[in-house]
Amino acid sequence: MNLNPILYPMNTKLLSSLFILSLCSLLHAQTKPNIVFILADDMGYGDVASYGCRDIETANLDLLAASGVRFTSGYSSHPYCSPMRAALMAGRYQHRFGYERNIAFDQHNMVMGLPETEKTVAARMQEAGYVTAAIGKWHLGASTPFQPNSRGFDFWYGFRGGGHQYFKVDLNTKLHENYYAPLERNGEPEGLHGYITTTLTDGAVGFIKDNRDKPFFLYLAYNAPHGPLQAPESYKQKYSHIKDTKRRTYAAMVHAMDDEIGRVVKTLDDLNLRENTIVFFMSDNGGPEHANASDNGPLRGGKGEVYEGGIRVPFMISWPGKIKPDQTNDHPVMSIDLMRTALELGGAPLEAKLEGVNLLPYLIGEKSGAPNEALFWRMENGTDYAVRSGPWKLLKARDQSGIQLYNVENDIGETNNLASTHPTELGRLIQLYEDWNAKNIPPFFPGYREYHEMLGEFYESISAPK
Ligand code: CA
Repeated sequence: MNLNPILYPMNTKLLSSLFILSLCSLLHAQTKPNIVFILADDMGYGDVASYGCRDIETANLDLLAASGVRFTSGYSSHPYCSPMRAALMAGRYQHRFGYERNIAFDQHNMVMGLPETEKTVAARMQEAGYVTAAIGKWHLGASTPFQPNSRGFDFWYGFRGGGHQYFKVDLNTKLHENYYAPLERNGEPEGLHGYITTTLTDGAVGFIKDNRDKPFFLYLAYNAPHGPLQAPESYKQKYSHIKDTKRRTYAAMVHAMDDEIGRVVKTLDDLNLRENTIVFFMSDNGGPEHANASDNGPLRGGKGEVYEGGIRVPFMISWPGKIKPDQTNDHPVMSIDLMRTALELGGAPLEAKLEGVNLLPYLIGEKSGAPNEALFWRMENGTDYAVRSGPWKLLKARDQSGIQLYNVENDIGETNNLASTHPTELGRLIQLYEDWNAKNIPPFFPGYREYHEMLGEFYESISAPK
């Protein structure tokens, strides 16, 4: 190759600038923070020691909270599983795209799932240069177009339904029996050898180790401590003093999950990644106290209700390299805010339709005050709904006629209905709800019970000749 003596110096210059440019982009890529989002399932507000729990050891969650920010008014966008996960993945309220029911498990249904019009947070993180993983419970559609590998996740290990047995799978499992379905790893079915909370953590630890040199986005959704109540004997023995056998097993499940979360954090520590990794933890909804013996502490109600017990959950953020430890934050924040924070930290492409608030500026002193003017909930196209704005909470619940209004800063247990004595606040919150609700659409698929009844009727209608 003949190099023109006049052009040659320019080429050297050009090459060195290109080299510096690519070095910069490489360095930039490496300084993007890793994101680890850990979700518990059906864990109560009062089931972490730092949230007032007195009978379960949660040393790792307490350390995580102490290393960063513990939110006392952290909320899920829905009082049960599937819709809150739809909002997490879409980065906006699930009601915007008609997803406010728990989805049925049917691997042949190509319609029911997180709509393909919703580009997931994971897909956006991929575009920003992240390697992405979903591990654990999915619950956003059981057929292949909706499974995590099709929705922005490079790595997927878990189960597609709304829950799972903790010790076994049945490789011949039938429709309706998704709790026994094989686990899958990137679409390949797998058995289960050991306790699922441990096995899922093995997947998370492996993913972190394999991707230690790249920015990664890990969504680790444990099914613990959702039913069925099953725990290793060694953990149950630690709680043999708890007389209520349900609570004993529940405590063992929470303790086991806490240890496994500790193992995830230790992996980050061991790989020297902790200071460049932001860790989120929350429960997907409040505890169903009767079903799994969870405890929502001082809150009224539980899973499936828009009272605080259904939606206010343990909620924490830790990032030792960036966020000061030992912070308590009482401002209302929501699950969707965590995904918005991830998107902005990762430099992912944003769209006007996305919702939630980047919380980081509020945690490092760049901004002050409340991140959200108001937060909203709606079930079943409005049989139940709620608004939280500042200390005020308005709600309409199926179990009561009329609208209720509480000052949840003074009255966390929602015992003193102020609707008749505070018309100004009442009117303001009703207006906020109506403005928010005007942008929602009705649910586009039936709930799982109704769906299975419809299927049953359909099968009866086509019974074979005898
Ligand atoms: Ca749940």
